[in-house]
Amino acid sequence: MSRRIPPDGEAVAGGDRAALARAITLVESKRPEDRPGARALVDGLMSRTGRAIRVGITGVPGVGKSTLIDALGSYLIDRGHRVAVLAVDPSSSRTGGAILGDKTRMARLATAPAAFVRPSPSSGTLGGVAARTREAMLLCEAAGFDVVLVETVGVGQSETAVADLTDTFLVVALPGAGDELQGIKKGIIELADIIAVNKADGSGGERAAAAAADYRAALHILVPPGAAWTPPVLLVSGLAETGLDALWDQVRQHRDRMEAAGAFAAKRKRQDGRWMWALVEERIRERLRTDPTIREKLPAIEAAVAEARLSPAAGADEIAAILGI
Ligand code: GDP
Repeated sequence: MSRRIPPDGEAVAGGDRAALARAITLVESKRPEDRPGARALVDGLMSRTGRAIRVGITGVPGVGKSTLIDALGSYLIDRGHRVAVLAVDPSSSRTGGAILGDKTRMARLATAPAAFVRPSPSSGTLGGVAARTREAMLLCEAAGFDVVLVETVGVGQSETAVADLTDTFLVVALPGAGDELQGIKKGIIELADIIAVNKADGSGGERAAAAAADYRAALHILVPPGAAWTPPVLLVSGLAETGLDALWDQVRQHRDRMEAAGAFAAKRKRQDGRWMWALVEERIRERLRTDPTIREKLPAIEAAVAEARLSPAAGADEIAAILGI
C-alpha cells in the first residue's frame, strides 16, 4: 500500500529535526481530532520505515543505562550511524517517571546532530505508551535514523512491551558479588538476547566477571539445547567506554542469525499484529473513558457492584451493552 506523503511528512523524510519532533508530538496527542493527521503522516511514511536496527535496553535505575546509551550512541555516530533514543516509561505521567526526560542524562547525544533523543510519551496505559513509541520509532526511521535504541526500566510489563517493539533486547545488569542474580526480575533473562554486565571498570572489574559467570550459568539452564541463539554475556563499562565493540558486534550477529533463520521477518510481522491489537484495545479504553452514556451510567454500575447489588459479570454485561459489544 503506498500512500501520499503529507507535506509535514516530506519534511520528516528530508531529515528536518524540528518537523520530526512536531510529528512525534502529533502522534502522541490524545486529541481525537489529531488522529487522522497522525495516521496520514505515519501511513504516508510507512514505506520509508523498517530499515533501522532496533535495540531495546532495560535495567534497573542506577545500572548505568543513560551513561551506556550515551557512550554506545556516540560510538555508533563516530562510525557513521544516525541514532535515535526513545523511552517507554509508563510511570512518567504519574510520578515524573523512572526514566528522567532530562536530556543532560545523555549529554553528548543531546547535542549531536546525528542523534535524536526523545523522552517517553506520558500516557496512561503501557499499551498506549508502547503504541506511541512504535509510531515515534517509525517516524525516526523515516527521518533517516538507522539505529533506534528504546530504553525502559522494569515498571510493570514494560520490558515485554519494549522487547515487542525491537529486534534485539539488551539487559544491562549490575556487577554483584556471590551467586545471587540481583537486580534482575524473574523472566527478564528469558527476554534477553544479550546481557551486558555494566560498570566492569576499576574495582568493579572482578565483581562484574563473577556476575557474568552467574548469568552464563543461569542461561545454560534456561536456553534449550540447539537454540538458534544463546544470549552472550558481556562485560562493559559505559563510563570507561569499554566493551562497546563487542556489544555492537553481538547486536549485529543477533540480527544476522535471526535473518538467516527466517526469524527476523516473522518477528516483525508478529509485532505488527500485536501493534494493531494494542491500538484496538486503546480505542476501546478511550471509548470507555469518553462515551457520554458510559460516563453517566458508570458510577451507578460501579456502586451496585461494590455493594453486591449487581454481580461483576452482570455489571460488565451492562457496560458491554452500552458499547454495543
Ligand atoms: P540509569 O539510571 O540506569 O540511567 O544510570 P546512570 O547512567 O544515570 O548511572 C547511574 C550512576 O552510575 C551514575 O552515578 C553513573 O556515574 C554511574 N555509572 C554509570 N555507568 C557506569 C560505569 O560504567 N562504571 C561506573 N563505575 N559507574 C557508572
